[in-house]
Amino acid sequence: MKASKMLIATLKEAPNEAIVASHILLIRAGMIRKLVAGVYNYLPLGLRTLHKIENIIREEMDQAGSLEILSSAIQPKELWVESGRWQKYGPELMRLKDRHDREFCLGPTHEEIFTDLVRNEIKSRKNLPINLYQIQTKYRDELRPRFGLMRGREFIMKDAYSFDIDADGLDKSYQTMYETYERIFTRLGLNYQVVLADTGAIGGSTSHQFMALSDIGESDIVYCKHCSYAADEEKATSRVDCYNVGEALKEMIEVYTPNYKTIEEVSNFLGVDKKAIAKAMVYKNLTDNSFVVCLVRGDREVNIIKLINHLKIAEHEIALASFDEIKALNSVEGFVGPINVMARVLVDEEVSLMKNMVIGAGKLNYHLINANFGRDFTGEVLDLRMVKENDLCPVCGKPLSMEKGIEIGQIFKLNTKYSEPLKCYYQDVDGKNKPMVMGCYGIGITRTMSSIIEQNHDDAGIIWPLNVAPYHVVIVPINYDDELIKAGSDYLYDALSKNHVEVILDDRDAKAGFKFKDWELIGIPYIITVGKRATDKICELKMRKTLEKVELAYDEAVDKISQIVKETK
Ligand code: ATP
Ligand code: MG
Repeated sequence: MKASKMLIATLKEAPNEAIVASHILLIRAGMIRKLVAGVYNYLPLGLRTLHKIENIIREEMDQAGSLEILSSAIQPKELWVESGRWQKYGPELMRLKDRHDREFCLGPTHEEIFTDLVRNEIKSRKNLPINLYQIQTKYRDELRPRFGLMRGREFIMKDAYSFDIDADGLDKSYQTMYETYERIFTRLGLNYQVVLADTGAIGGSTSHQFMALSDIGESDIVYCKHCSYAADEEKATSRVDCYNVGEALKEMIEVYTPNYKTIEEVSNFLGVDKKAIAKAMVYKNLTDNSFVVCLVRGDREVNIIKLINHLKIAEHEIALASFDEIKALNSVEGFVGPINVMARVLVDEEVSLMKNMVIGAGKLNYHLINANFGRDFTGEVLDLRMVKENDLCPVCGKPLSMEKGIEIGQIFKLNTKYSEPLKCYYQDVDGKNKPMVMGCYGIGITRTMSSIIEQNHDDAGIIWPLNVAPYHVVIVPINYDDELIKAGSDYLYDALSKNHVEVILDDRDAKAGFKFKDWELIGIPYIITVGKRATDKICELKMRKTLEKVELAYDEAVDKISQIVKETK
Protein backbone atom coordinates (compact mmCIF):
# COMPACT_ATOMS: atom_id res chain seq x y z
CA MET A 1 0.00 0.00 0.00
CA LYS A 2 1.27 3.48 -0.86
CA ALA A 3 1.01 5.87 2.06
CA SER A 4 -0.16 8.66 -0.24
CA LYS A 5 -3.32 6.63 -0.91
CA MET A 6 -4.01 5.75 2.72
CA LEU A 7 -6.12 7.47 5.35
CA ILE A 8 -3.41 8.33 7.85
CA ALA A 9 -5.16 10.35 10.50
CA THR A 10 -2.48 10.75 13.15
CA LEU A 11 -2.82 13.51 15.72
CA LYS A 12 -0.33 15.31 17.96
CA GLU A 13 -2.78 15.40 20.83
CA ALA A 14 -5.72 13.34 21.99
CA PRO A 15 -8.79 14.99 23.52
CA ASN A 16 -8.63 15.62 27.27
CA GLU A 17 -11.15 12.93 28.05
CA ALA A 18 -8.64 10.30 26.90
CA ILE A 19 -6.63 9.43 29.99
CA VAL A 20 -5.44 5.87 29.49
CA ALA A 21 -2.67 4.98 27.03
CA SER A 22 -4.77 2.77 24.77
CA HIS A 23 -7.49 5.39 24.36
CA ILE A 24 -4.98 8.18 23.71
CA LEU A 25 -2.96 6.11 21.26
CA LEU A 26 -5.92 4.67 19.34
CA ILE A 27 -7.09 8.23 18.71
CA ARG A 28 -3.65 9.70 18.06
CA ALA A 29 -2.68 6.87 15.71
CA GLY A 30 -5.86 7.50 13.72
CA MET A 31 -7.32 4.07 14.40
CA ILE A 32 -10.63 5.12 15.90
CA ARG A 33 -12.78 8.22 16.19
CA LYS A 34 -15.53 8.89 18.69
CA LEU A 35 -19.05 9.26 17.36
CA VAL A 36 -20.83 9.73 20.70
CA ALA A 37 -19.88 8.61 24.22
CA GLY A 38 -18.92 4.95 24.10
CA VAL A 39 -19.50 4.61 20.35
CA TYR A 40 -16.66 4.70 17.85
CA ASN A 41 -15.87 4.63 14.15
CA TYR A 42 -13.03 2.33 13.18
CA LEU A 43 -10.70 3.89 10.61
CA PRO A 44 -8.79 1.73 8.09
CA LEU A 45 -5.70 1.04 10.21
CA GLY A 46 -7.76 0.28 13.30
CA LEU A 47 -10.06 -1.98 11.37
CA ARG A 48 -7.17 -4.00 9.96
CA THR A 49 -5.94 -4.77 13.46
CA LEU A 50 -9.46 -5.51 14.65
CA HIS A 51 -9.91 -8.01 11.80
CA LYS A 52 -6.61 -9.67 12.63
CA ILE A 53 -7.62 -10.15 16.24
CA GLU A 54 -10.97 -11.51 15.09
CA ASN A 55 -9.27 -13.94 12.74
CA ILE A 56 -7.00 -15.34 15.43
CA ILE A 57 -10.05 -15.88 17.59
CA ARG A 58 -11.94 -17.37 14.63
CA GLU A 59 -9.12 -19.80 13.82
CA GLU A 60 -8.94 -21.05 17.38
CA MET A 61 -12.71 -21.34 17.75
CA ASP A 62 -12.96 -23.27 14.47
CA GLN A 63 -10.08 -25.48 15.57
CA ALA A 64 -11.98 -26.23 18.79
CA GLY A 65 -14.97 -27.40 16.74
CA SER A 66 -17.21 -24.41 17.33
CA LEU A 67 -19.42 -23.40 14.38
CA GLU A 68 -19.68 -19.77 13.34
CA ILE A 69 -23.05 -18.14 12.77
CA LEU A 70 -24.13 -14.52 12.67
CA SER A 71 -27.13 -13.24 14.55
CA SER A 72 -28.78 -9.85 14.61
CA ALA A 73 -28.19 -7.13 17.17
CA ILE A 74 -31.98 -6.71 17.32
CA GLN A 75 -33.69 -9.11 19.69
CA PRO A 76 -37.42 -9.47 20.34
CA LYS A 77 -38.65 -8.74 23.86
CA GLU A 78 -40.61 -12.00 23.99
CA LEU A 79 -37.47 -14.14 24.28
CA TRP A 80 -36.20 -11.96 27.13
CA VAL A 81 -39.53 -12.28 28.90
CA GLU A 82 -39.30 -16.06 28.52
CA SER A 83 -35.88 -16.12 30.18
CA GLY A 84 -36.99 -13.65 32.84
CA ARG A 85 -34.30 -11.11 31.96
CA TRP A 86 -36.44 -8.36 30.41
CA GLN A 87 -36.98 -7.09 33.94
CA LYS A 88 -33.75 -8.27 35.54
CA TYR A 89 -31.28 -6.78 33.08
CA GLY A 90 -32.08 -3.21 34.07
CA PRO A 91 -31.10 0.10 32.49
CA GLU A 92 -28.07 -1.26 30.62
CA LEU A 93 -30.44 -2.92 28.17
CA MET A 94 -31.13 -0.65 25.20
CA ARG A 95 -34.82 -1.06 24.44
CA LEU A 96 -36.70 0.10 21.36
CA LYS A 97 -40.06 -0.19 19.61
CA ASP A 98 -40.92 -0.67 15.98
CA ARG A 99 -43.72 1.27 14.20
CA HIS A 100 -46.25 -1.33 15.41
CA ASP A 101 -45.21 -0.78 19.02
CA ARG A 102 -43.56 -4.16 19.20
CA GLU A 103 -40.71 -4.09 21.70
CA PHE A 104 -37.11 -5.09 21.07
CA CYS A 105 -33.71 -4.67 22.61
CA LEU A 106 -30.25 -4.28 21.16
CA GLY A 107 -28.46 -7.41 22.35
CA PRO A 108 -25.97 -6.96 25.19
CA THR A 109 -25.36 -10.74 24.96
CA HIS A 110 -27.13 -13.55 23.10
CA GLU A 111 -28.11 -16.41 25.43
CA GLU A 112 -31.81 -16.13 24.57
CA ILE A 113 -31.20 -16.00 20.82
CA PHE A 114 -28.87 -18.98 20.65
CA THR A 115 -31.08 -21.01 22.96
CA ASP A 116 -34.08 -20.21 20.77
CA LEU A 117 -32.14 -21.11 17.64
CA VAL A 118 -31.01 -24.45 19.01
CA ARG A 119 -34.42 -25.40 20.43
CA ASN A 120 -35.87 -24.88 16.95
CA GLU A 121 -33.15 -26.67 15.03
CA ILE A 122 -32.09 -29.53 17.26
CA LYS A 123 -34.39 -32.14 18.74
CA SER A 124 -32.32 -35.27 18.99
CA ARG A 125 -29.47 -36.13 21.30
CA LYS A 126 -27.64 -37.44 18.24
CA ASN A 127 -26.97 -33.84 17.23
CA LEU A 128 -25.41 -32.97 20.57
CA PRO A 129 -23.06 -31.64 21.76
CA ILE A 130 -22.93 -28.54 19.63
CA ASN A 131 -21.06 -25.28 20.11
CA LEU A 132 -22.02 -22.18 18.11
CA TYR A 133 -20.28 -18.82 18.08
CA GLN A 134 -20.41 -15.45 16.43
CA ILE A 135 -18.33 -12.30 16.19
CA GLN A 136 -20.84 -9.50 16.45
CA THR A 137 -21.68 -6.07 17.80
CA LYS A 138 -23.13 -5.76 21.29
CA TYR A 139 -24.92 -2.89 22.98
CA ARG A 140 -24.91 -2.00 26.66
CA ASP A 141 -25.99 1.38 27.92
CA GLU A 142 -23.11 1.55 30.38
CA LEU A 143 -23.49 4.09 33.17
CA ARG A 144 -19.97 5.36 32.56
CA PRO A 145 -18.60 4.51 29.14
CA ARG A 146 -14.90 5.26 29.28
CA PHE A 147 -11.33 4.51 28.36
CA GLY A 148 -12.16 4.39 24.66
CA LEU A 149 -12.82 0.84 23.51
CA MET A 150 -12.38 -0.53 27.03
CA ARG A 151 -15.91 0.21 28.13
CA GLY A 152 -18.07 1.15 25.18
CA ARG A 153 -21.80 1.28 24.75
CA GLU A 154 -21.30 -0.47 21.44
CA PHE A 155 -18.54 -3.06 21.26
CA ILE A 156 -17.58 -6.20 19.43
CA MET A 157 -17.73 -9.52 21.19
CA LYS A 158 -17.06 -13.09 20.27
CA ASP A 159 -19.76 -15.04 22.02
CA ALA A 160 -20.14 -18.81 21.97
CA TYR A 161 -22.74 -21.14 23.46
CA SER A 162 -22.39 -24.87 24.03
CA PHE A 163 -25.25 -27.38 24.29
CA ASP A 164 -24.69 -30.78 25.88
CA ILE A 165 -26.86 -33.65 27.02
CA ASP A 166 -25.54 -33.67 30.57
CA ALA A 167 -23.22 -32.08 33.12
CA ASP A 168 -20.27 -34.29 32.13
CA GLY A 169 -20.63 -33.08 28.57
CA LEU A 170 -20.72 -29.47 29.76
CA ASP A 171 -17.56 -30.05 31.79
CA LYS A 172 -15.79 -31.16 28.62
CA SER A 173 -17.14 -28.31 26.50
CA TYR A 174 -16.15 -25.82 29.20
CA GLN A 175 -12.65 -27.26 29.47
CA THR A 176 -12.22 -27.08 25.69
CA MET A 177 -13.21 -23.40 25.70
CA TYR A 178 -10.95 -22.70 28.69
CA GLU A 179 -7.99 -24.12 26.80
CA THR A 180 -9.02 -22.36 23.59
CA TYR A 181 -9.08 -19.03 25.43
CA GLU A 182 -5.61 -19.73 26.80
CA ARG A 183 -4.39 -20.33 23.25
CA ILE A 184 -6.08 -17.18 21.94
CA PHE A 185 -4.71 -14.84 24.59
CA THR A 186 -1.27 -16.42 24.36
CA ARG A 187 -1.25 -15.90 20.58
CA LEU A 188 -2.27 -12.29 21.16
CA GLY A 189 0.83 -11.93 23.31
CA LEU A 190 -1.11 -10.86 26.39
CA ASN A 191 0.11 -11.15 29.94
CA TYR A 192 -3.05 -12.52 31.53
CA GLN A 193 -4.34 -14.43 34.51
CA VAL A 194 -7.35 -16.73 34.75
CA VAL A 195 -9.47 -16.17 37.85
CA LEU A 196 -12.56 -17.63 39.46
CA ALA A 197 -15.46 -15.29 38.84
CA ASP A 198 -18.95 -14.42 39.92
CA THR A 199 -21.60 -15.35 37.37
CA GLY A 200 -23.32 -11.92 37.42
CA ALA A 201 -26.24 -11.10 35.14
CA ILE A 202 -25.47 -14.06 32.88
CA GLY A 203 -26.06 -16.55 35.70
CA GLY A 204 -25.08 -20.21 36.08
CA SER A 205 -22.77 -22.06 38.44
CA THR A 206 -19.05 -21.99 37.61
CA SER A 207 -17.28 -19.15 35.86
CA HIS A 208 -13.76 -17.98 35.03
CA GLN A 209 -12.55 -14.64 33.83
CA PHE A 210 -9.49 -13.99 31.72
CA MET A 211 -7.78 -10.85 32.96
CA ALA A 212 -5.12 -8.88 31.12
CA LEU A 213 -2.86 -7.57 33.87
CA SER A 214 -2.73 -3.79 33.84
CA ASP A 215 -2.67 -0.94 36.34
CA ILE A 216 -5.61 0.70 34.59
CA GLY A 217 -7.73 -2.45 34.95
CA GLU A 218 -11.13 -1.96 36.53
CA SER A 219 -11.12 -5.42 38.10
CA ASP A 220 -9.24 -6.38 41.22
CA ILE A 221 -7.71 -9.79 41.13
CA VAL A 222 -7.04 -11.61 44.35
CA TYR A 223 -4.43 -14.33 44.02
CA CYS A 224 -2.12 -16.46 46.07
CA LYS A 225 1.57 -16.58 45.30
CA HIS A 226 1.91 -19.81 47.23
CA CYS A 227 -0.78 -21.93 45.57
CA SER A 228 -2.93 -21.57 42.44
CA TYR A 229 -5.87 -19.72 44.02
CA ALA A 230 -6.96 -16.70 41.96
CA ALA A 231 -10.34 -15.00 41.95
CA ASP A 232 -12.01 -11.80 40.91
CA GLU A 233 -12.52 -9.50 43.90
CA GLU A 234 -16.29 -9.91 43.61
CA LYS A 235 -15.94 -13.65 44.03
CA ALA A 236 -12.84 -13.88 46.21
CA THR A 237 -12.99 -15.20 49.72
CA SER A 238 -10.50 -15.60 52.54
CA ARG A 239 -10.01 -17.72 55.61
CA VAL A 240 -11.98 -16.29 58.49
CA ASP A 241 -9.78 -14.13 60.67
CA CYS A 242 -11.36 -13.09 63.94
CA TYR A 243 -10.11 -10.78 66.59
CA ASN A 244 -10.15 -12.05 70.20
CA VAL A 245 -11.72 -15.29 69.05
CA GLY A 246 -10.58 -17.30 72.07
CA GLU A 247 -11.83 -14.88 74.74
CA ALA A 248 -14.34 -15.86 77.36
CA LEU A 249 -17.70 -14.15 76.91
CA LYS A 250 -18.12 -10.97 78.91
CA GLU A 251 -21.24 -9.19 79.97
CA MET A 252 -22.72 -6.91 77.31
CA ILE A 253 -22.76 -3.26 78.38
CA GLU A 254 -24.25 -0.17 76.80
CA VAL A 255 -21.76 2.71 76.49
CA TYR A 256 -22.28 6.37 75.74
CA THR A 257 -20.53 7.28 72.47
CA PRO A 258 -21.66 10.88 71.88
CA ASN A 259 -21.56 11.62 68.17
CA TYR A 260 -19.00 8.90 67.52
CA LYS A 261 -20.40 7.23 64.45
CA THR A 262 -17.72 5.98 62.16
CA ILE A 263 -15.62 2.89 62.82
CA GLU A 264 -12.57 5.15 63.09
CA GLU A 265 -14.23 7.40 65.70
CA VAL A 266 -15.66 4.54 67.75
CA SER A 267 -12.36 2.66 67.67
CA ASN A 268 -10.45 5.74 68.88
CA PHE A 269 -13.00 6.71 71.50
CA LEU A 270 -13.33 3.24 73.01
CA GLY A 271 -9.68 2.38 72.49
CA VAL A 272 -10.48 -0.86 70.67
CA ASP A 273 -9.13 -2.29 67.44
CA LYS A 274 -11.34 -1.74 64.40
CA LYS A 275 -11.37 -5.51 64.03
CA ALA A 276 -13.23 -5.76 67.36
CA ILE A 277 -16.15 -3.72 66.00
CA ALA A 278 -18.96 -5.03 63.81
CA LYS A 279 -19.74 -2.56 61.05
CA ALA A 280 -23.44 -2.39 60.17
CA MET A 281 -24.56 -1.30 56.71
CA VAL A 282 -28.25 -0.97 55.85
CA TYR A 283 -29.45 -1.67 52.31
CA LYS A 284 -32.82 -1.42 50.67
CA ASN A 285 -33.97 -4.20 48.37
CA LEU A 286 -35.70 -2.24 45.62
CA THR A 287 -37.68 -5.22 44.36
CA ASP A 288 -39.85 -5.40 47.47
CA ASN A 289 -38.77 -2.34 49.50
CA SER A 290 -37.49 -4.55 52.30
CA PHE A 291 -34.32 -3.79 54.25
CA VAL A 292 -31.25 -5.76 55.27
CA VAL A 293 -28.63 -4.96 57.87
CA CYS A 294 -25.22 -6.36 56.90
CA LEU A 295 -22.57 -6.91 59.54
CA VAL A 296 -18.90 -7.19 58.65
CA ARG A 297 -15.70 -6.75 60.65
CA GLY A 298 -15.03 -3.06 61.31
CA ASP A 299 -12.07 -2.77 58.97
CA ARG A 300 -13.90 -4.44 56.08
CA GLU A 301 -16.37 -3.53 53.38
CA VAL A 302 -19.54 -5.35 52.41
CA ASN A 303 -19.20 -7.20 49.11
CA ILE A 304 -22.29 -6.05 47.23
CA ILE A 305 -22.10 -8.89 44.72
CA LYS A 306 -22.21 -11.48 47.50
CA LEU A 307 -25.11 -9.56 49.02
CA ILE A 308 -27.20 -9.39 45.83
CA ASN A 309 -26.48 -13.03 45.05
CA HIS A 310 -27.77 -13.97 48.50
CA LEU A 311 -30.87 -11.83 47.99
CA LYS A 312 -31.24 -13.20 44.43
CA ILE A 313 -31.58 -9.73 42.94
CA ALA A 314 -29.66 -7.70 40.36
CA GLU A 315 -27.09 -5.02 41.08
CA HIS A 316 -29.42 -2.18 40.13
CA GLU A 317 -32.02 -3.50 42.57
CA ILE A 318 -30.09 -2.61 45.72
CA ALA A 319 -29.40 0.79 47.31
CA LEU A 320 -28.10 2.14 50.60
CA ALA A 321 -30.91 2.99 53.01
CA SER A 322 -31.47 6.67 53.79
CA PHE A 323 -31.40 8.36 57.21
CA ASP A 324 -35.20 8.34 57.42
CA GLU A 325 -35.50 4.77 56.24
CA ILE A 326 -33.09 3.67 58.97
CA LYS A 327 -35.12 5.59 61.51
CA ALA A 328 -38.26 3.79 60.37
CA LEU A 329 -36.49 0.49 61.10
CA ASN A 330 -36.28 1.51 64.75
CA SER A 331 -32.62 2.46 64.48
CA VAL A 332 -30.37 5.51 64.06
CA GLU A 333 -27.83 6.17 61.34
CA GLY A 334 -24.31 5.84 62.72
CA PHE A 335 -25.51 3.68 65.59
CA VAL A 336 -27.14 0.81 63.72
CA GLY A 337 -26.85 -2.60 65.30
CA PRO A 338 -28.43 -6.01 64.86
CA ILE A 339 -30.56 -5.89 68.01
CA ASN A 340 -34.18 -4.75 67.79
CA VAL A 341 -33.75 -3.51 64.26
CA MET A 342 -36.82 -4.18 62.11
CA ALA A 343 -34.94 -5.71 59.21
CA ARG A 344 -33.37 -8.93 58.05
CA VAL A 345 -29.87 -9.27 59.56
CA LEU A 346 -27.02 -10.77 57.51
CA VAL A 347 -23.85 -11.59 59.41
CA ASP A 348 -20.49 -12.24 57.84
CA GLU A 349 -18.85 -15.48 58.96
CA GLU A 350 -16.13 -13.56 60.79
CA VAL A 351 -18.61 -11.52 62.82
CA SER A 352 -20.46 -14.68 63.80
CA LEU A 353 -17.22 -15.95 65.38
CA MET A 354 -15.87 -12.72 66.92
CA LYS A 355 -16.00 -12.52 70.68
CA ASN A 356 -16.97 -9.52 72.79
CA MET A 357 -17.39 -7.16 69.88
CA VAL A 358 -18.66 -3.61 69.70
CA ILE A 359 -21.97 -3.08 67.89
CA GLY A 360 -24.29 -0.13 67.40
CA ALA A 361 -26.99 0.03 70.07
CA GLY A 362 -29.68 1.12 67.62
CA LYS A 363 -30.21 4.34 69.54
CA LEU A 364 -28.69 7.78 69.30
CA ASN A 365 -25.17 8.12 70.79
CA TYR A 366 -24.90 4.57 72.15
CA HIS A 367 -22.93 1.46 71.30
CA LEU A 368 -22.86 -1.91 72.99
CA ILE A 369 -19.61 -3.56 74.01
CA ASN A 370 -19.02 -7.27 74.60
CA ALA A 371 -21.78 -8.26 72.23
CA ASN A 372 -21.72 -11.85 71.00
CA PHE A 373 -23.43 -13.55 68.12
CA GLY A 374 -25.78 -16.29 69.22
CA ARG A 375 -26.12 -14.89 72.73
CA ASP A 376 -27.07 -11.26 72.09
CA PHE A 377 -28.15 -11.28 68.46
CA THR A 378 -28.62 -13.62 65.54
CA GLY A 379 -28.88 -13.41 61.80
CA GLU A 380 -28.17 -15.32 58.60
CA VAL A 381 -24.48 -16.20 58.49
CA LEU A 382 -22.73 -16.04 55.14
CA ASP A 383 -19.59 -14.86 53.39
CA LEU A 384 -20.37 -11.16 52.93
CA ARG A 385 -16.92 -9.66 53.12
CA MET A 386 -14.69 -7.98 50.60
CA VAL A 387 -11.25 -9.56 50.61
CA LYS A 388 -8.16 -7.39 51.17
CA GLU A 389 -4.47 -7.79 50.42
CA ASN A 390 -2.76 -10.04 53.00
CA ASP A 391 -5.99 -11.73 54.04
CA LEU A 392 -5.39 -15.45 54.29
CA CYS A 393 -5.75 -17.66 51.23
CA PRO A 394 -8.86 -19.86 51.51
CA VAL A 395 -6.92 -22.78 50.04
CA CYS A 396 -3.47 -22.72 51.68
CA GLY A 397 -3.79 -20.09 54.41
CA LYS A 398 -0.86 -17.93 53.25
CA PRO A 399 -1.28 -14.14 52.65
CA LEU A 400 -3.13 -13.16 49.50
CA SER A 401 -1.88 -10.65 46.93
CA MET A 402 -3.85 -8.28 44.74
CA GLU A 403 -3.41 -6.95 41.25
CA LYS A 404 -5.44 -4.94 38.72
CA GLY A 405 -6.78 -6.61 35.62
CA ILE A 406 -8.85 -5.90 32.53
CA GLU A 407 -11.54 -8.50 31.96
CA ILE A 408 -11.02 -9.59 28.36
CA GLY A 409 -13.02 -12.80 28.46
CA GLN A 410 -15.37 -14.78 30.63
CA ILE A 411 -16.71 -18.30 30.45
CA PHE A 412 -19.74 -19.69 32.32
CA LYS A 413 -21.32 -23.01 33.08
CA LEU A 414 -24.95 -22.05 32.62
CA ASN A 415 -26.34 -25.53 33.18
CA THR A 416 -30.08 -25.29 32.47
CA LYS A 417 -30.55 -21.63 33.43
CA TYR A 418 -31.77 -20.76 29.93
CA SER A 419 -32.67 -24.15 28.45
CA GLU A 420 -35.22 -24.80 31.20
CA PRO A 421 -37.31 -21.60 30.90
CA LEU A 422 -36.93 -21.49 27.12
CA LYS A 423 -37.71 -25.21 26.81
CA CYS A 424 -34.62 -26.01 24.83
CA TYR A 425 -35.08 -29.78 25.08
CA TYR A 426 -33.71 -32.86 23.42
CA GLN A 427 -35.34 -36.26 23.34
CA ASP A 428 -33.42 -38.73 25.44
CA VAL A 429 -33.13 -42.51 24.81
CA ASP A 430 -36.06 -43.11 27.17
CA GLY A 431 -38.20 -40.88 24.95
CA LYS A 432 -38.37 -38.14 27.58
CA ASN A 433 -37.63 -34.50 26.83
CA LYS A 434 -34.70 -33.13 28.83
CA PRO A 435 -33.22 -29.63 28.95
CA MET A 436 -29.88 -29.20 27.23
CA VAL A 437 -26.98 -28.35 29.52
CA MET A 438 -25.41 -25.10 28.41
CA GLY A 439 -22.23 -23.07 28.67
CA CYS A 440 -21.46 -19.62 27.32
CA TYR A 441 -18.16 -18.04 26.45
CA GLY A 442 -17.39 -14.39 25.67
CA ILE A 443 -14.37 -12.41 24.54
CA GLY A 444 -14.49 -8.62 24.34
CA ILE A 445 -12.68 -8.17 21.06
CA THR A 446 -12.49 -4.39 21.05
CA ARG A 447 -11.51 -4.39 24.72
CA THR A 448 -8.83 -6.97 23.92
CA MET A 449 -7.49 -4.62 21.24
CA SER A 450 -7.16 -1.87 23.87
CA SER A 451 -5.57 -4.28 26.32
CA ILE A 452 -2.89 -5.25 23.79
CA ILE A 453 -1.98 -1.54 23.56
CA GLU A 454 -1.99 -1.11 27.34
CA GLN A 455 0.63 -3.85 27.54
CA ASN A 456 2.55 -2.83 24.41
CA HIS A 457 3.41 0.85 24.06
CA ASP A 458 6.12 3.37 24.80
CA ASP A 459 6.46 7.16 24.70
CA ALA A 460 6.50 7.14 20.90
CA GLY A 461 3.31 5.14 20.47
CA ILE A 462 1.87 1.68 20.00
CA ILE A 463 4.05 -1.42 19.64
CA TRP A 464 1.81 -3.92 17.86
CA PRO A 465 2.74 -7.59 18.06
CA LEU A 466 3.47 -8.67 14.47
CA ASN A 467 0.38 -10.90 14.15
CA VAL A 468 -2.08 -8.06 14.83
CA ALA A 469 -0.19 -5.08 13.42
CA PRO A 470 -2.17 -3.26 10.71
CA TYR A 471 0.85 -3.78 8.40
CA HIS A 472 4.07 -5.69 9.00
CA VAL A 473 6.58 -3.23 7.62
CA VAL A 474 6.87 0.30 6.28
CA ILE A 475 9.50 1.55 3.86
CA VAL A 476 10.52 5.15 4.41
CA PRO A 477 12.57 6.66 1.57
CA ILE A 478 14.62 9.63 2.82
CA ASN A 479 13.89 11.35 -0.47
CA TYR A 480 11.53 9.64 -2.90
CA ASP A 481 12.53 12.08 -5.65
CA ASP A 482 16.04 10.67 -5.65
CA GLU A 483 16.21 8.07 -8.43
CA LEU A 484 18.39 5.53 -6.61
CA ILE A 485 16.41 5.82 -3.41
CA LYS A 486 13.16 5.49 -5.34
CA ALA A 487 14.46 2.43 -7.19
CA GLY A 488 15.61 0.81 -3.94
CA SER A 489 12.33 1.55 -2.17
CA ASP A 490 10.26 0.22 -5.06
CA TYR A 491 12.42 -2.90 -5.24
CA LEU A 492 11.93 -3.63 -1.54
CA TYR A 493 8.22 -2.91 -1.83
CA ASP A 494 7.73 -5.36 -4.71
CA ALA A 495 9.95 -8.07 -3.22
CA LEU A 496 8.22 -7.95 0.18
CA SER A 497 4.73 -7.80 -1.36
CA LYS A 498 5.52 -10.89 -3.45
CA ASN A 499 6.38 -12.74 -0.25
CA HIS A 500 2.98 -11.87 1.25
CA VAL A 501 4.44 -9.35 3.63
CA GLU A 502 2.01 -6.50 4.31
CA VAL A 503 4.05 -3.51 3.39
CA ILE A 504 3.53 0.24 3.18
CA LEU A 505 5.68 2.48 1.05
CA ASP A 506 5.71 5.98 2.48
CA ASP A 507 5.74 7.95 -0.76
CA ARG A 508 4.28 11.05 0.89
CA ASP A 509 5.84 14.40 0.23
CA ALA A 510 7.07 14.99 3.76
CA LYS A 511 10.23 15.03 5.83
CA ALA A 512 11.58 11.62 6.88
CA GLY A 513 11.47 12.64 10.56
CA PHE A 514 7.77 13.39 10.28
CA LYS A 515 7.16 10.00 8.67
CA PHE A 516 9.10 8.09 11.35
CA LYS A 517 7.01 9.75 14.03
CA ASP A 518 3.81 8.60 12.33
CA TRP A 519 4.89 4.99 11.97
CA GLU A 520 6.23 4.74 15.47
CA LEU A 521 2.97 6.15 16.77
CA ILE A 522 0.94 3.72 14.64
CA GLY A 523 3.20 0.92 15.79
CA ILE A 524 4.33 -0.79 12.59
CA PRO A 525 6.73 -3.54 13.78
CA TYR A 526 9.45 -2.99 11.16
CA ILE A 527 10.58 0.31 9.67
CA ILE A 528 12.96 0.20 6.71
CA THR A 529 14.79 3.38 5.77
CA VAL A 530 16.21 3.76 2.29
CA GLY A 531 18.68 6.60 2.20
CA LYS A 532 22.33 7.39 1.87
CA ARG A 533 23.47 3.80 1.30
CA ALA A 534 21.07 3.21 -1.60
CA THR A 535 24.08 3.23 -3.91
CA ASP A 536 25.26 0.01 -2.20
CA LYS A 537 21.73 -1.41 -2.10
CA ILE A 538 21.82 -1.25 1.68
CA CYS A 539 18.93 -0.17 3.87
CA GLU A 540 18.43 0.32 7.57
CA LEU A 541 15.98 -1.89 9.44
CA LYS A 542 14.56 -0.61 12.71
CA MET A 543 12.60 -2.81 15.12
CA ARG A 544 9.73 -0.84 16.56
CA LYS A 545 9.77 -2.75 19.82
CA THR A 546 13.42 -2.31 20.76
CA LEU A 547 14.13 0.70 18.52
CA GLU A 548 17.29 -1.21 17.61
CA LYS A 549 18.67 -0.57 14.08
CA VAL A 550 20.69 -2.73 11.71
CA GLU A 551 22.04 -2.12 8.22
CA LEU A 552 21.16 -4.87 5.78
CA ALA A 553 21.52 -5.50 2.07
CA TYR A 554 18.12 -5.16 0.37
CA ASP A 555 17.75 -8.90 -0.17
CA GLU A 556 18.82 -9.71 3.35
CA ALA A 557 16.16 -7.38 4.69
CA VAL A 558 13.54 -8.97 2.43
CA ASP A 559 14.53 -12.50 3.46
CA LYS A 560 14.67 -11.69 7.14
CA ILE A 561 11.27 -10.02 7.29
CA SER A 562 9.61 -12.54 4.95
CA GLN A 563 10.85 -15.40 7.10
CA ILE A 564 9.64 -13.82 10.34
CA VAL A 565 6.23 -13.02 8.85
CA LYS A 566 5.92 -16.55 7.49
CA GLU A 567 6.61 -18.05 10.90
CA THR A 568 4.21 -15.73 12.72
CA LYS A 569 0.90 -17.20 13.79
P1 ATP B 1 -17.69 -5.78 32.89
O1 ATP B 1 -17.72 -6.44 34.24
O2 ATP B 1 -16.35 -5.24 32.51
O3 ATP B 1 -18.81 -4.79 32.69
P2 ATP B 1 -19.11 -8.05 31.97
O4 ATP B 1 -18.67 -9.07 32.93
O5 ATP B 1 -20.42 -7.41 32.16
O6 ATP B 1 -17.97 -6.93 31.82
P3 ATP B 1 -19.54 -10.12 29.99
O7 ATP B 1 -21.01 -10.16 30.02
O8 ATP B 1 -18.78 -11.19 30.67
O9 ATP B 1 -19.03 -8.67 30.49
O10 ATP B 1 -19.07 -9.96 28.46
C1 ATP B 1 -18.02 -10.69 27.85
C2 ATP B 1 -16.85 -9.79 27.54
O11 ATP B 1 -17.24 -8.64 26.80
C3 ATP B 1 -16.17 -9.22 28.76
O12 ATP B 1 -15.28 -10.16 29.30
C4 ATP B 1 -15.48 -7.99 28.21
O13 ATP B 1 -14.23 -8.35 27.66
C5 ATP B 1 -16.40 -7.54 27.10
N1 ATP B 1 -17.19 -6.37 27.50
C6 ATP B 1 -18.21 -6.33 28.38
N2 ATP B 1 -18.72 -5.10 28.48
C7 ATP B 1 -18.01 -4.32 27.63
C8 ATP B 1 -18.06 -2.94 27.27
N3 ATP B 1 -18.95 -2.14 27.80
N4 ATP B 1 -17.16 -2.48 26.35
C9 ATP B 1 -16.25 -3.31 25.80
N5 ATP B 1 -16.16 -4.62 26.11
C10 ATP B 1 -17.02 -5.13 27.00
MG1 MG C 1 -17.86 -10.72 32.54
